[in-house]
Amino acid sequence: MQDLIARASGGGVRAFAAITTNLVDEARCRHSLYPIATAALGRTMTAAILLAANLKTEETITIRIKGDGPLEQVVADARADGTVRGYVHHPQIDLPLHNGKLAVGQAVGNGFIHVTRFTGMKDPFTGSVPLVSGEIAEDVTNYLLVSEQIPSSVALGVLVETDLSVGAAGGFMVQAMPGASDEVLKQLENNIATLPPVSQLIKEGADPAKLFDLLFAGIDYTYLDENPLKFACSCNRERVEKILLSLGKDELNQLAAEGQAELTCHFCSQQYQFSQQEIQALHEK
Ligand code: ZN
Repeated sequence: MQDLIARASGGGVRAFAAITTNLVDEARCRHSLYPIATAALGRTMTAAILLAANLKTEETITIRIKGDGPLEQVVADARADGTVRGYVHHPQIDLPLHNGKLAVGQAVGNGFIHVTRFTGMKDPFTGSVPLVSGEIAEDVTNYLLVSEQIPSSVALGVLVETDLSVGAAGGFMVQAMPGASDEVLKQLENNIATLPPVSQLIKEGADPAKLFDLLFAGIDYTYLDENPLKFACSCNRERVEKILLSLGKDELNQLAAEGQAELTCHFCSQQYQFSQQEIQALHEK
């Protein structure tokens, strides 16, 4: 199934559903992630996509999950155009299963979730709240309530297969608008409480329409639209050259003396190589 995000609304409730299986697997391959990191980053990238679903064309959202666990930091950037990128500080850690599941909460630990909205117009706005469990979905739900005063229900799921590939990934976010009736909210709460894990639904073939049918069971709703998603990074050689230039003369001299330089983009693991001649040419700029 193709990666995509869809929107729906009904009964004073709006909902977003994302299928992210391919892009989470791409992140896994790019960063050589072990399963816990795949789950943590996949959930965080999916959350960033869901939060970006309401942005305007030029806007970006960054989620940073920073804890005292062995992963240290999980970062995801999503844009309104449906592109996302991300990384974890320590991609290859391993912990025993916790109740038969990947121990994402333990791998993240105690800390904060920071959400930054870049609007392109004003200065970026960052909201930070303490982590609830480090399991990401609960942390994002709590962030939306505490920092943005939006009561929401967020579900995120990544299913890692025994060969380490991503078998299914995705999630949904449901938000009640001020006009939603108690009856609708009660129905919604029941629907969400009885829903199987979202990664299981996607693994079984559920698309956003199917997810909305389950979420809005008993509530009239309209399927608004859907858009493709993909892993993409904004890095390129020109930008990396600028970073090298910003190091200043002494550092460039040293790099040139060492022979060559290799820089790796945090976000996508793309490598950029610079020969001695190229560094010297930059030095002369
Ligand atoms: Zn990159």
